[in-house]
Amino acid sequence: MRREVALRDGHQCTFVAEDGRRCPARRRLEFHHQRVAFAKRGEATAANISLCCTAHHGLATEQEFGREHVARRVAEARQARERRRVAKAPSPGTAFTTSSFAFGPT
Ligand SMILES: [Zn+2]
Repeated sequence: MRREVALRDGHQCTFVAEDGRRCPARRRLEFHHQRVAFAKRGEATAANISLCCTAHHGLATEQEFGREHVARRVAEARQARERRRVAKAPSPGTAFTTSSFAFGPT
């Protein structure tokens, strides 16, 4: 199926700009699920899938789901990274308590 789409779309991004020029990207192509997006349980058939470069895939997704949705997803991903980072780092509160206990005024 992916092969079929890639052949049909000529291994090139299918995004067409307002001036009618097609995006020349042939690298970093992704399969974009059109009309009914895959996340909305759209059926993955060659008819509703097209090749998109990374940039236009993001743009298309943004238009389909709305800017807010994408912004929220980005924020969520950032928060998840932040949580993992904080979990790994030693708690600064504990370190402070320990040192003030050891070197505190008597
Ligand atoms: Zn493109």
